[in-house]
Amino acid sequence: MTIGTAVGVESTPIAVDVVILGAGINGAALARELVLNGLSVVVVDADDIAAGTTRWSTRLVHGGLRYLEYGELALVRESLAERNRLLRLAPHLVRPLGFVVPVQGWFGGLASAAARILGFEACARRWAGERGRGGLTVACGLWLYDLLSTGSVWPRRCLVRGGEPGMPAVDVARYPLAGIYDDAQMVFPERFTVELLVDARTIAAEKQVFFSIFTRRTAHLESDGRLRVASVAAQNQEQGSEFVLVPRAIVNATGAWVDHTLGELLPAGGGAEGRLQSGDLQSGKHLTGQRLIGGTKGSHLLVDHAGLREALGARGVYAEAADGRPVFVLPFGARLVLVGTTDIPFAGDPSAARTDADEIDYLVAAVRLLFPAVAPSRGDVVQHYCGVRPLPARRANGPTPAGITRRHMLVRLDGAPLPLWSIVGGKLTTCRSLAEGAAAEVLAVLGLPVAATSRTRPLPGACSLREGEELAERCAASGLVAGVPDAAARAMADAVVGLFGTRAGAAVGIDPTLSGAGVADREAFQPLGDSPLPRRVVRFCLDHEWAETLADIVERRLLLAFDPELSMATLRAVAGELVRAGRLPAERSDSEIASFVEMMAERYGKRLKDQGLKDQN
Ligand SMILES: Cc1cc2nc3c(=O)[nH]c(=O)nc-3n(C[C@H](O)[C@H](O)[C@H](O)COP(=O)(O)OP(=O)(O)OC[C@H]3O[C@@H](n4cnc5c(N)ncnc54)[C@H](O)[C@@H]3O)c2cc1C
Repeated sequence: MTIGTAVGVESTPIAVDVVILGAGINGAALARELVLNGLSVVVVDADDIAAGTTRWSTRLVHGGLRYLEYGELALVRESLAERNRLLRLAPHLVRPLGFVVPVQGWFGGLASAAARILGFEACARRWAGERGRGGLTVACGLWLYDLLSTGSVWPRRCLVRGGEPGMPAVDVARYPLAGIYDDAQMVFPERFTVELLVDARTIAAEKQVFFSIFTRRTAHLESDGRLRVASVAAQNQEQGSEFVLVPRAIVNATGAWVDHTLGELLPAGGGAEGRLQSGDLQSGKHLTGQRLIGGTKGSHLLVDHAGLREALGARGVYAEAADGRPVFVLPFGARLVLVGTTDIPFAGDPSAARTDADEIDYLVAAVRLLFPAVAPSRGDVVQHYCGVRPLPARRANGPTPAGITRRHMLVRLDGAPLPLWSIVGGKLTTCRSLAEGAAAEVLAVLGLPVAATSRTRPLPGACSLREGEELAERCAASGLVAGVPDAAARAMADAVVGLFGTRAGAAVGIDPTLSGAGVADREAFQPLGDSPLPRRVVRFCLDHEWAETLADIVERRLLLAFDPELSMATLRAVAGELVRAGRLPAERSDSEIASFVEMMAERYGKRLKDQGLKDQN
């Protein structure tokens, strides 16, 4: 059941167990965990699914080797366990990735690491030295990483000579040694988040509990505990409708926006009045007015440089920039290299965070230090993005940005008219365990037992590499039957399976168990502009994945925004599908495309492939 069109301002208030504010990876994982336990859930997001920090991350599912130095052993252990679990439960979206840590010599970094573990950050920085962490320090870290990773099937980490075959071609003269270990990459956290919600919907239907998602809405809590949900921008009558929910509990999962959301949510002067607590935030309770988030912004570059991509090969590099900050250089798709990140205190509106010129120079310099032979330049940066980490607020004399804990916390607002928690912190990697812990607390307060967990529940599109290849074969065969040329049919099948996993057949409208059969709509197999995807997938995202706008489709469902070949032709094709589906008035199509192109330039620094051509026409 969906109440998307059924409720208006005059409608009866709807009783629901839990309202989750924020459809990022944490809100989505929690929604799934709660419906798994038989609760009715409504998710409200001010923008779209995965429109926040989730998509601005480095996209790694990792234990966090670096956190060892900050003594975060419990976090590393939990993250490694979750990494191993997500590799099993979502192998189509979470893929193993080998890493190399370039090392300049044997010694160095031990005293600094020890000081950091003991909490003497100033000494740690003073003793860090210019040559970074030495081989012995890296070997100790990798040994501990191994020790904390129970149930991993990967070979043990080791230290080798630089320049061995299969290793990224970093400057061997500078880095004669290399640490080797494995972690994982979630190239599309946007799709992971959508799948969590798709699964929540499926579970809700099975259990016959109410579940619904409302995007582009915000919520306001009345003093009697009723929640008024209203459209962010009343674009049309239906979206402009306001409705009332009567939840038993609310979870504020709006990440870097947590404080802003609380300010918007609570009635003026309502809630509990309280003094600001001094000291660092802990899991537990907090009072109205206490700042929960002390975000730091982090930027990433996407570099299109064939020499760099070749030098990197199939592994990622985890290195130190000239100032000792960690930098990742990662393969991203078949062609690009992802470089990140920075860590700069940020107090403004998280939506306004942008990569600045200094960050670009800093990250390019870090890559050039590692790969002087190919030396990419600023001109090779085809795109960048920036997000704000939802880290806990800290005292003025607290740790450096890198030293702030990456652990998550669930804090409950004291004196609210109903149980109201905020999630502080959290990583992509620990979204499931965070959801499990948060659900247990919500259930306990509602007087219910934990009936189920998601520990062994795969995501809806889960398939192994081999199953994915077989599925792609069948999708390609259907493409051929629909008249798509051979090479294009294969590219189409790979792209669709890469995005949707086992849901690929449904996404292109075929029964993938029957090779070539069930191709009802040949037109739908025609390519989506210059992309390898078929047009049919747009309709699938509109009908089955809560997409509403051009940006929802291009940025967060089909991930075309990261395609170096993204063109105006593709945008026109997507807009055409929106018009055909009745989701975009034909007369608004051109202006919608124009504002999207403007946004791509402003937010990502990206020009479309054929944009210049069109501009000249
Ligand atoms: C630079 C950087 C690199 C990172 N790299 C990694 C990594 O490699 N691996 C890893 O595990 N983690 C990484 N992280 C951390 C991780 O990305 C985040 O902690 C995580 O995505 C947070 O998810 P979330 O669901 O809590 O918040 P978000 O994804 O930000 O979701 C919050 C949602 O709330 C919505 N919202 C905002 N205001 C309101 C409102 N008033 N009402 C309703 N909804 C609202 C937003 O639209 C958004 O959709 C990184 C973070 C950053 C910034």
